[in-house]
Amino acid sequence: MFFDTHCHIHMERFAGEEAALIERMRAAQVSRAVVVATDVDEIAQVQTLLDRYPELYGAFALSPQDETLTDLSAEAIAQYVQGDRWVAVGETGIDYHYCTEPLDWARNRFATHIAAARLAQKPLVIHSRDAADDTIAILRENGADEAGFVLHCFCGDWDFARRALDLGAYLSFSGIVTFKTALDQQDVARRAPMDRILIETDSPYLAPVPLRGKRNEPSFVPHVANYLAQLRGMTLEDVARQTTQNALRFFKIKGE
Ligand SMILES: [Zn+2]
Repeated sequence: MFFDTHCHIHMERFAGEEAALIERMRAAQVSRAVVVATDVDEIAQVQTLLDRYPELYGAFALSPQDETLTDLSAEAIAQYVQGDRWVAVGETGIDYHYCTEPLDWARNRFATHIAAARLAQKPLVIHSRDAADDTIAILRENGADEAGFVLHCFCGDWDFARRALDLGAYLSFSGIVTFKTALDQQDVARRAPMDRILIETDSPYLAPVPLRGKRNEPSFVPHVANYLAQLRGMTLEDVARQTTQNALRFFKIKGE
């Protein structure tokens, strides 16, 4: 059984196809997935999916890539993720990929999300791109380790990973790790402790090899697990079992 810890299957691109999508997930032995809402408007769409499909869970935070969203208080954000089926605050973080100066609005929003996670007693899903130093500093200054956090779609080198792991991080690998050029990610995926690794699709983006370029979906996550198994010399079954156990523990889901 596999656990896709990060997807966006409430998006327009999947409209009307949800039942077929879930069927394919079940057929691929992907027993759970976390659906991530990046704006208040998306919460209802995700909730509709949660009501319909018991294997889905929700996460919510205001996107770290969209300055135009109206900011919310930590209390308001904590309120949105109440209940057993909303398992995390995220995705939140810092993205300097297209913009390198310090982004005050993004740093403040990130800090507010960390406060929200601590209030709600739910872990954080972190989006960090080209911003290792700021990410570590903000996580540390705001006590993110108290809530727990995962660096989702991990993109960085071992130095970044090691500093995050020291703060208690989980690292989640997406289809990127299967790309030929992703040498840093592969290095980290080889060296990170197995009990801190999660897998995800980040669908509809970043389909893993051999499906690269297609629209991604949760049923593709075994390809990420398979790649990790080869990289670490483990069986696919062991990677599936370990990463699923990790995800259940991280999201505080009572598993079987
Ligand atoms: Zn995402």
